[in-house]
Amino acid sequence: MARTTIGLLLIMASFALSAAPLPESNISYSIEVRLDPETRNLDGKETITWRNTLETSVDSIPMHLYLNAFSNRGSSWFQKTLGERFQESTILKRFDDPWGWTEPDNIRQDGVELAWQPVAPDDGNHLDRSLIEVVLNEPLAPGETVTLDIDWSGRLPAAAARTGGYDRFFFIAQWFPKVAGVRPEGDFNRHQFFGPTEFFAGFADYDVTIAIPEGWGIAATGKGELLRTEDGYDWHRYQQKAVIDFALATGADMENVATAHELATGGQVDIHIFQPKGYEHQLARWTDATARSLDTMSTRVLPYPYETVTVVLPPRAGSRAIGMEYPTLFTGGPGGEIWDYNLIKETRINEGVIAHEFAHQYFNAIVATNEFEDAFMDEGMTEYWAAEIMLENWGEESGNGFLLGRAMNVNASSMVARPSETNYPAVWSGPSFLARGYGIGRQFYDRPAMTFETAARLFGQDVIDDVFAAYAQRWQFSHPRVEDFWAVADEVAGPQVAGMLREAYVHPHIPDYKVAKLEVKKYSPPPGYLRDGNETVFVDVDWDGDKKLGLPVEALEEDGQVLVSILDPGHTRETRTMGSIERRFLDPVGEMEGTDEVGEVESTDEDETSFYASNARVVGPDWDHLPVIVELRFADGVVVRDEWDGKGVYREYRIVRPSPLDSVVIDPDYNIRLDIVPVNNGLKHEGGGAIPKDWSRWLTGLYQLFAEGAASWL
Ligand SMILES: [Zn+2]
Repeated sequence: MARTTIGLLLIMASFALSAAPLPESNISYSIEVRLDPETRNLDGKETITWRNTLETSVDSIPMHLYLNAFSNRGSSWFQKTLGERFQESTILKRFDDPWGWTEPDNIRQDGVELAWQPVAPDDGNHLDRSLIEVVLNEPLAPGETVTLDIDWSGRLPAAAARTGGYDRFFFIAQWFPKVAGVRPEGDFNRHQFFGPTEFFAGFADYDVTIAIPEGWGIAATGKGELLRTEDGYDWHRYQQKAVIDFALATGADMENVATAHELATGGQVDIHIFQPKGYEHQLARWTDATARSLDTMSTRVLPYPYETVTVVLPPRAGSRAIGMEYPTLFTGGPGGEIWDYNLIKETRINEGVIAHEFAHQYFNAIVATNEFEDAFMDEGMTEYWAAEIMLENWGEESGNGFLLGRAMNVNASSMVARPSETNYPAVWSGPSFLARGYGIGRQFYDRPAMTFETAARLFGQDVIDDVFAAYAQRWQFSHPRVEDFWAVADEVAGPQVAGMLREAYVHPHIPDYKVAKLEVKKYSPPPGYLRDGNETVFVDVDWDGDKKLGLPVEALEEDGQVLVSILDPGHTRETRTMGSIERRFLDPVGEMEGTDEVGEVESTDEDETSFYASNARVVGPDWDHLPVIVELRFADGVVVRDEWDGKGVYREYRIVRPSPLDSVVIDPDYNIRLDIVPVNNGLKHEGGGAIPKDWSRWLTGLYQLFAEGAASWL
């Protein structure tokens, strides 16, 4: 699409922001299921229609049986995830039989039973039954539709990761036999279920009838109604068009309270809060957080297209379901008493989780990227937009609330709260589950998020908002790859922005700018023979004559400019650039504030004729698209700034002037949020220490630990 068309789309979007009608889906699910809380059994039947949108005919259809991830210790999910992350031993201590499973009793096409078998294309694990291949009666040509009828049995795991429950609360996700999604490349996404890889799927229309014990609360994807009560069961029906998944939660002690919200871009969305009974006093808070998330994303990215959004705040027994996204429904933090505790109450941890999970409505539910292969696509964008939601609604200073009376800054890069190794696979590497053990948290979440934040600071917030709006507009209800995102960035914001975004994904190293050296020597004429006007002067090693002898005239700064010699070593790419020593005259950018704090570098009994030779070296990541400001601050309050294009592994400054260099600060405005160790961006002469620029960042690191403790994954 040409750039003018994108521009037109943006203009149209700003005139008519109300949500567009939902598109037609090529898949439909009609499901009837009954939950027995005593046994955790799910018995269901479903009718799936699937129209072949591939360009070739199809002999067989892969289907996910996600619940089999929990069927035994040998499943691929269990092997790759549970043991290390979800405390298998704790679960086994609490439950004699925590296992869950699912099995089709039969799969029929036009009344004829079909053959099917488990397949394990990723790891060949014969114990893994999370993916099956169903062989059709006859090949299905492009454009044709097949109808499959499936009777199935299943059992939920004890509240393990994201799905399951026991006793009086169940979170039911990945629970029904589901057709594998079609990749944008035009083939099936045939992958088993691994922990960090989740649920890429096609858009479908869901019509789900669920039987739960009479009087239990329920929340589910889409709009629902109570159909009837029969033999101690309430039968509810939920429907939703054009979503990639369907999840629900139910509990004996839970209630679902809906509040109508007038969307900032027009239209009404019903906000449902599903939380433990007895905490009605918290409802307004969670409803407000959801409404703010809806409005920020609708205004800046794309009007929310669905009529409902449901936030599940599980009770303590369901805490393993917290912090997870499903279409029109997601889980926030744990519900109930924790938010009444004084220590926690003042934080906005739950608002942050709600913002994050809500942002997932856009990045991977509406713009449905392939999380199995590209987890960074949705997690990174989601993490970024969650921060934008917090910033816009609660401000930067204390957006994350207060902990122990201290304000918690939103922008505090969570990068600094994590260990500082820099050698990971590039973010772009895949598939996602193979990156396990290589800092998934940092690579898939923080690094892309910090990339977007850096881009917004380098190129303008409006520019980056426009990129996201155009990307969401073009790729809503479809399945882009990261190349499609770069292409939109290029069209909307130009090659510099696209190049920066691309470099941040494909470069294996996380960038780190750093001040490596700061040295100051008092100037004295160099011993030997110097020319002074028409004379030759012998300077001996004990010279106590004219202290300015041999000084360059520029050092006197009679025109107010500061001469800086900049050594640039050049850099190599496909070709090389030669290094240089450039003499640059810089205008001071203003007096340094608080000179009493930094100005007492030299003792005050120096006479006024002293000069100083200062040297500084800064080192950088040598990226093509990460320009940075280097600020040189002198003891007399003079400050000059060098705009470094960042191309090269180091850069040196030499300055001779009447005042010594007091400190060097790289990126004084903290634009490079991607910088993995910002604390080494400053070096002070006296005391020799790093300059801790912003203590609230470290406090936020603490907050991150809290937040991550509250939600093992988001
Ligand atoms: Zn997430």
